[in-house]
Amino acid sequence: MKKQIGFGSLCVQEPEERRYTRPHQLPIYAASSFAFDSIEEGMNVFLGNQPGHIYSRFGNPTIDAVAEKIAQLEAHGAGLEATALLTSSGMAAISTLLLGLLKSGEAILTQGNLYGGATALFRDVLQPLQIGYHAVNLAQLDEAERLLRENGNIRLLYYETPANPTLDCFDMAALAELGHKYNCIVVADNTFATPYLQKPLQSGADFVIHSTTKYLNGHGNSVAGAIVGKNEELMQEAILPKLKLLGANCNSWDAWLVHNGLKTLEIRMERHCHNARRLAEWLEQNPRVETVNYPGLPSHPGHALARRQMKDFGGMLSFELKGGLEAGKKFMNRLKLCTLTPTLGDVDTLVLHPASMSHISVPREVRLQYGITDGLVRISTGIENTEDIIADVEQAMEG
Ligand SMILES: *Cc1c(COP(=O)(O)O)cnc(C)c1O
Repeated sequence: MKKQIGFGSLCVQEPEERRYTRPHQLPIYAASSFAFDSIEEGMNVFLGNQPGHIYSRFGNPTIDAVAEKIAQLEAHGAGLEATALLTSSGMAAISTLLLGLLKSGEAILTQGNLYGGATALFRDVLQPLQIGYHAVNLAQLDEAERLLRENGNIRLLYYETPANPTLDCFDMAALAELGHKYNCIVVADNTFATPYLQKPLQSGADFVIHSTTKYLNGHGNSVAGAIVGKNEELMQEAILPKLKLLGANCNSWDAWLVHNGLKTLEIRMERHCHNARRLAEWLEQNPRVETVNYPGLPSHPGHALARRQMKDFGGMLSFELKGGLEAGKKFMNRLKLCTLTPTLGDVDTLVLHPASMSHISVPREVRLQYGITDGLVRISTGIENTEDIIADVEQAMEG
């Protein structure tokens, strides 16, 4: 008879891996590391001569499967190959990518109305490391080109379209062409649009970053991010080593939640777009409303461009009531179905007041330059029945 191990050892022992049948759904690998059958196998995996996993900070089967899905979605129908890495947040995706690509003395060209966290990262983390940035209106290509011509150290062009919260749109193909003319790496934050609506890699960008926290997960129950790139050498040699050292990795639970959300991305986006368009049209003809920003409205300055480079116009809109800040505050406090919260892209309708929430650290004069007035209200339109969203907005305006 085989000698029995002690009770305590039995408690600790991992069951032998028994693969009965293939799981129908992606399992969550809650394993910090992976075991090798021999020292030779371990060496080969470490050297990259044999596929395999080592340590979950470097990747694991759940995380890698979800990264691959996001890369495939960004490359879909574009006749190109891409790979992806998942990160602990959208901010981790941005910081890892930029620290992987840039060194001290180099600089970034970007837009003024960037996601607030990205602007703060450029200013408070990268600038002290002597990685500078120039913020311009990227719709003015001449001005952007002047900066590129005059600052030979600009190595990277970073854009977001549509931009928060006025939904300004920028020409992805023109920006990629301009960036490449001056030897820049072109990076797009595709969080607002998702690959369902637009594919920056196909329009020339070298990298896409995501806050998967938003539409890709879609259910408001996970924080994570992704870096997608079409240059495999840069991904493997510049980005992945930085991700490992910064410890910016995603975990398998959050990756799994993103994976679950991705399954319904297309049908969610169709409904988000439908509801946002109906709501924007309703708001635009409402006498209490001063302005509506939605790329799907012919009155929006980015409408023609959005029609050209996007499949539909997205789920985000913003508007201002007549009566400015006071009217806006009353409106937000009276909402019942819609929730006041500083995120976006969830299945339910979310409302935010940029001046007091997402853009509170931006000086008022700067904010106003980008149309972020005191009374502006941002809506992330959910997938509820359209008439219920409109009824809630209507009762909150009238109350
Ligand atoms: C939320 C967001 C980010 C940051 O993502 P986190 O997951 O919160 O770190 C970056 N870009 C855009 C456009 C966002 O909306």
